[in-house]
Amino acid sequence: MKKNSILSSLPVLIAFIFVGVFAWLIASTFFGTKAGDPQPEPEALEEELETIEEEIEEIEENKSVGPVYAPITNVASSNCTIKYGNLMLINPNFHVEQDYITNRRAELISLSYNYGIAEGNPNNGDNLMDSVAALHMNEMANAYKTAYPGHTLETRSCYRVRGTTCGRLCLPTGQTDHHTGLTCDLIDPAYGTSLDTSLYNQHIEWQWLKANSYKYGFIDRFPLAWAGGSMSEPMNVNADGSTGLYETWHYRYVGVEAATEIATGKYNNGQYDSLEHYLKATGLVTDLVNATCKTD
Ligand SMILES: [Zn+2]
Repeated sequence: MKKNSILSSLPVLIAFIFVGVFAWLIASTFFGTKAGDPQPEPEALEEELETIEEEIEEIEENKSVGPVYAPITNVASSNCTIKYGNLMLINPNFHVEQDYITNRRAELISLSYNYGIAEGNPNNGDNLMDSVAALHMNEMANAYKTAYPGHTLETRSCYRVRGTTCGRLCLPTGQTDHHTGLTCDLIDPAYGTSLDTSLYNQHIEWQWLKANSYKYGFIDRFPLAWAGGSMSEPMNVNADGSTGLYETWHYRYVGVEAATEIATGKYNNGQYDSLEHYLKATGLVTDLVNATCKTD
């Protein structure tokens, strides 16, 4: 970010140099110079200008192009948790409107293009993520590669513009965490392509993510302990913090501080928390069923 801000201030710097030289030329033409002051030759000035132009050219050539960040804008929604940024809650009780979903897409960046994180299933959403979450996703993917050389993490589904109607694990448009731009379903292709909770013990990457993702600001969004019985039933997204879902591959960015508190169970007797319960326990959400937030 620091590098980017230096680069973005470059045009201002160039403008200052030119304005400075121009002002000095005007000043010396109109006001002349005091007797005894050294009179710069026009050739000397021209040479100086040439040197500055060469220096600018050199800076322009050497500047590296970092990750391309989409501009962050404020996307509106009647969902009261929108003001919590990375802690925003979208579920069957906390809905978002179609406008939110469409406008949010414009804020996201490509994981494939910016970080080379492959999309395993191009038919299920777009490989897009919020720029800060994507930066941390890349760090997490690299840490996994280091822990298990030869292995990689790829996405099966990140941002979705629509909900799904496939049954047990699916939620309609406006109600899925996949609208946030902070979420991806993850899998190591070495273990196949099937997202199946019964395969958890065979999937090293899901076990590694469960234990380590919080260090990068990600949480297991739908842990078994918070599924609340039969899954994907809106009634199971209850007042206590049940999510109604159990998915061992669904990881959600909430920032390192909150992720650490959720994974280490700060408000859940040391056990892995749900985002719903965490928001209720911290007082940010006042009612998980009627979808109300703390008033400012
Ligand atoms: Zn998911």
